[in-house]
Amino acid sequence: MPEPLAPPSDEPLAADVDGEHERVSVALQAVADELNARAAAAGGDAQQVLEASALMAQDPAILDDVRARLQGGANAERATWDAYAGFRDLLTSMGGYMAERATDLDDVAQRVVARLRGVAAPGVPVSAEPFILIARDLAPADTATLDLEKTLALVTQDGGPTSHTAILARSKSLPAVVGVVGLLDAVADGQRVIVDARTGTVELDPDDAAVAAAEEERTARLGAASAPITEGALADGTKMPLLANVGSPKDAAKAIELGAEGVGLFRTEFLFLDSATAPTVEEQTAAYTELLQAFSGKKVVVRVLDAGADKPLSFLNDAHEENPALGLRGIRALRASEHILRDQLTALANAQAASDARLYVMAPMIADVEETEYFVGLGRELGLEVVGAMAEVPSIAVLADQVLEVADFVSIGTNDLTQYTLAADRQLGSVAALQDPWHPAVLRLIKMLGDAGARADKGVGVCGEAAADPALAVVLVGLGVTSLSMSASALADVRAELLTVTLDEAKARAERVLGARSAAEARQLAAASLVD
Ligand code: PEP
Ligand code: MG
Repeated sequence: MPEPLAPPSDEPLAADVDGEHERVSVALQAVADELNARAAAAGGDAQQVLEASALMAQDPAILDDVRARLQGGANAERATWDAYAGFRDLLTSMGGYMAERATDLDDVAQRVVARLRGVAAPGVPVSAEPFILIARDLAPADTATLDLEKTLALVTQDGGPTSHTAILARSKSLPAVVGVVGLLDAVADGQRVIVDARTGTVELDPDDAAVAAAEEERTARLGAASAPITEGALADGTKMPLLANVGSPKDAAKAIELGAEGVGLFRTEFLFLDSATAPTVEEQTAAYTELLQAFSGKKVVVRVLDAGADKPLSFLNDAHEENPALGLRGIRALRASEHILRDQLTALANAQAASDARLYVMAPMIADVEETEYFVGLGRELGLEVVGAMAEVPSIAVLADQVLEVADFVSIGTNDLTQYTLAADRQLGSVAALQDPWHPAVLRLIKMLGDAGARADKGVGVCGEAAADPALAVVLVGLGVTSLSMSASALADVRAELLTVTLDEAKARAERVLGARSAAEARQLAAASLVD
């Protein structure tokens, strides 16, 4: 268990301000250099995360703040610590995605103070034996450079599903459970535990039989990862396209390498999270064309900007809202600034003309047929061929028949559909137990969408995290889902699991799971049907 550095003392400054300011400046530069070196060594998603951390060590505002604190009589360590704490509080108060970056700032602060103190920065202990890493939270720099030969799994007490720790662990296919309340009080160094990242559980002091079963499952999982890459299909040959969720055109190569048959969700807002103004049609056309050309001849589903709540964009969401998840988000925000939506759809139509990928375009947070008509109408007016709706607001499931008369397809965002069905904020650790897509209420809504899709003979995909859970993927197929999209690292496990069931078996499993009284019971019923 990595231990954080002890906080600095409150001893008043005993040296001259300029000299101490210079010492802090040198330490900040050294930390930035070290993080940039780790970034270059790590590559991929980790590189971007670590480069962002390096920038946090080079921000001139920090040095200005440190100088003011030194002038106020604080010692160098205390001044640095407090300067970062100020920025941390600012990020935390912004909530959502920004708040989850606060941990990254803490890590940078710890590294700088360790340098000033002349001690090693806190990090992951070295072990000769393979181990499960238990921590309050892990700095991105540590997660990105973990020794994957030795680290079997990662469990943290803090952090939500969108923290960098969780994102990096997923991108490295490292089993991880984050946000386990009371973890550090319950587990001691050397204690035996089983971590099941699929169910999000940590079992303390398991007996030998449970350990043997977990070992067997782990071997099967490793076997799935090295199985040949085939198109997604069930045991009876029913086709089930397996697509990838991507956040930038640069993710395309990795997705193709891992066997993605196309893209089921391209989250366009990640291209623009740091922009102060709306991107131009030309900038967007270039980005979409790059993505579509990488998937020549394949299906690519692009989601128009989903700004608001956990993904705020200053040019779309400027008003303060008490409950941003229930506010001007997704299609609502775009409708309020229609010129931005028109620009995006125009750029997508340009990219469609410049490639032979099969472009599907969808809008987030569609609630009913009136919003569907608005979006599909605008898409067609601007030259798009296939236009659909995301199912994230429960009302769309209730009205699925009406919506599917107008939309060309529906894609279910189970992350938000779960959040809104159970009224449980997806960013909040205290209600994480309710944020469970196995909940029978969520599954029943998915069934309504699947049935409506079959009646209208239109596709109903899933692109939320639920599709990446192999056992749940089988249930989704049984509920009528026609394609599954997930982070590319999850494809192998889901591909292997689908090959173990026929469509009739998946339907039978879905039928019994629909009768569950809780998410836990639904999981049990799905597992029980495996041996029937
Ligand atoms: C979802 O809500 O399930 C989804 C895929 O969208 P996001 O996670 O980007 O909100
Ligand atoms: Mg969503």
